Amino acid sequence: MPAGFPDFRLGNVLATSFTGTLSERHGDAVERIPTPHRLADWLAVNGLAVDSCTTAQLALARELRESIHAAATAAAIQDALPAAAVQVINDRSTQGRAAAILTPEGERRWRLSSASRVEDALGVIAADAISVIAGERDGKLALCASPTCQAAFFDTSQSRTRKWCDMNTCGNRQKKARFNANQRKSPRSAE
Ligand SMILES: [Zn+2]
Repeated sequence: MPAGFPDFRLGNVLATSFTGTLSERHGDAVERIPTPHRLADWLAVNGLAVDSCTTAQLALARELRESIHAAATAAAIQDALPAAAVQVINDRSTQGRAAAILTPEGERRWRLSSASRVEDALGVIAADAISVIAGERDGKLALCASPTCQAAFFDTSQSRTRKWCDMNTCGNRQKKARFNANQRKSPRSAE
């Protein structure tokens, strides 16, 4: 992985992993796909490899990402879906031409109509977002409890009580903050 770029946060839900490429939206935002090349890297990691990506395609991807974020956030708090966001998600979904392929091993792969069609990959992500937001999948949309994050994530835990978008980042940070607060409160024996 090229040095100097923020790492990806990889979840098991494509649409919300994608919205997670911008984190800390309510704090010091971290852009994890700052260049077309990094978007291509992210797509490759997620089984949607393309051989090139333009700045225009990166702009399309970010527009889709923020639209999914807006619609998923609204769905999580049971608010009306923002029409503009729904439009973008539907446009990307209808303009994608990826095909689901069953491998001999019984796994699903995506085949893009051409290796440079980032739009096909975005179509797959948009369709994933639609299935999550439409409530078709086993899980529940929720918002991360970290005040600087508030990312929409898909809770597939059995109890549906997950609080953080990512245990390794937001979850840990909250735990550490609580630990430090407790340390300050407890009297020091050496003094
Ligand atoms: Zn979070």
